[in-house]
Amino acid sequence: MQNIEKFEDFNISEKILKAINEMGFEAPSPIQLLSIPKLLEGKDLIGQAQTGTGKTCAFGIPMIEKINSKNYVQGLVLCPTRELSIQVTEELKKLSKYKKLEILPVYGGQSIERQINILKKHVDIVVGTPGRVIDHLERGTLKLDNLNFFVLDEMDEMLNMGFQEDVEKILSYCTNEKQIALFSATIPETIINLAKKYLKNPEIIKVVHKELTVPSIQQYYFQILEKDKTEVLCRLIDINDFKLSLVFCNKKVKVDELADSLANRGYQVGALHGDMKQSQREFILKKFRKGQIEILIATDVAARGLDINNVEAVFNYDIPYDEEYYVHRIGRTGRAGKTGIAYTFVVGKEIYKLKDIERYAKIKIPYKKVPSIQEIEESKLNKFVNKVIENIKNQDEYYEENKVLNILLSKNIQIKDICLYLIKKLLSFESSDYQEIDEIEPHFSSEKKSKNNKTRFFINLGRKDNITPYEIVNFISSNGNINPKKIGNIDIYDKFSFVDIYIDNENKLLEKIDGIKYKRKKIGFEVANIK
Ligand code: AMP
Repeated sequence: MQNIEKFEDFNISEKILKAINEMGFEAPSPIQLLSIPKLLEGKDLIGQAQTGTGKTCAFGIPMIEKINSKNYVQGLVLCPTRELSIQVTEELKKLSKYKKLEILPVYGGQSIERQINILKKHVDIVVGTPGRVIDHLERGTLKLDNLNFFVLDEMDEMLNMGFQEDVEKILSYCTNEKQIALFSATIPETIINLAKKYLKNPEIIKVVHKELTVPSIQQYYFQILEKDKTEVLCRLIDINDFKLSLVFCNKKVKVDELADSLANRGYQVGALHGDMKQSQREFILKKFRKGQIEILIATDVAARGLDINNVEAVFNYDIPYDEEYYVHRIGRTGRAGKTGIAYTFVVGKEIYKLKDIERYAKIKIPYKKVPSIQEIEESKLNKFVNKVIENIKNQDEYYEENKVLNILLSKNIQIKDICLYLIKKLLSFESSDYQEIDEIEPHFSSEKKSKNNKTRFFINLGRKDNITPYEIVNFISSNGNINPKKIGNIDIYDKFSFVDIYIDNENKLLEKIDGIKYKRKKIGFEVANIK
């Protein structure tokens, strides 16, 4: 087999390569390296991968490669949620930018007439939730007779949400020869059975990780919004006074953007990614080693094998999509017996990626609160005060300065006035560039500070079970032994519902409710991963 390292090594068209390049990806992720060749060969596939591993492109690239616009739907992606359908559609649209395929997301809650109108015109790939896809199939507004690429995305989630029957019904609508790719974070027995029934000799792929020793350096994570990442990075660098920091981004474009915005804020920065010539890279690295660059921003590929002493902090500006990368990245600090620190920025559902990393590396990464502007100003002040105290001890050295002071004193200028003027010159209080950020509640209860926290739970009871909000409240409060007043908003869908509960210990409630029966139905009850 050909040794694949770059996207150019895959047997894919220039149009797709151009699109991938614009998306800013430097190299295929591990799941892409394994899936893309198999899917290009036409094989059915079961891929064990979570969100955040690059799995959308793992099936999206071969799917787009294989589909050439005709007059019917050729590709279908089934996703458990509306959010995921939208996300997948966006990724596929970017990939097909130069092939100009029509990709339509279909999910409940959006006008069905609008979807019908578009389906009537021309659509190449449909991405949707099972309920709405069935609705279209039954109305005859979606035909899968000529389908040739079928993707089941986050299959375990679809099963958890009670979609198995629907998925099988959809599969029964497309009986013609087609390729099927199934992606799931876990592969329970039910998925194996389903695969046996519908997939032809599937290739089973899973990213296997090497056992790695995790360096013993301090590690923390911050839960923040994407828009606040740069601000948080600056605050952390400033408050800690890091002299050399290494910042990792997942995409080349991000590396360039971040380098520009940090340079605009006055930092000495360097960027390192695969688009740069070897000589350019060496030049940047030399400057970083000499300390002429204080912040080096890099992609994983560019930083491979990088060996620099004295890196005080590693920042995962983007959480890595592979657990192994995390360990490689943080190993760039704390070298040669020095202490180091690693900070990871987590946005929304990426918290689950962090939990994967913790599990893989057998470590606990504690949550940390972003330092406030006031804390940074205070730390700046303290540092200044300490520096003055330290230097006063060596006042013998100030021979010339003493002469100037004596002149000032001879002119009847007060010592306090002289000091205040000089402090103002040395410490600038006005020129702070800091911006306000939005505070995000940490996702996991043990990290939450306030007592009245709301958690969103998923329960596999919905309209089809003839359930009412009153019955849900009754069921949860009596079995979970909690006050009904603690139960807030309830959103009931066809097969499941979301329930907001004001509770401190989610695990206790999960233990009491998950797996018990409601009218002979086994209840699936879990913390919803959509906030
Ligand atoms: P997914 O697992 O498909 O949800 O992808 C997670 C994120 O990784 C998305 O923002 C993708 O655009 C991005 N991504 C996918 N493949 C790559 C890659 N090879 N390099 C960098 N980022 C990627």
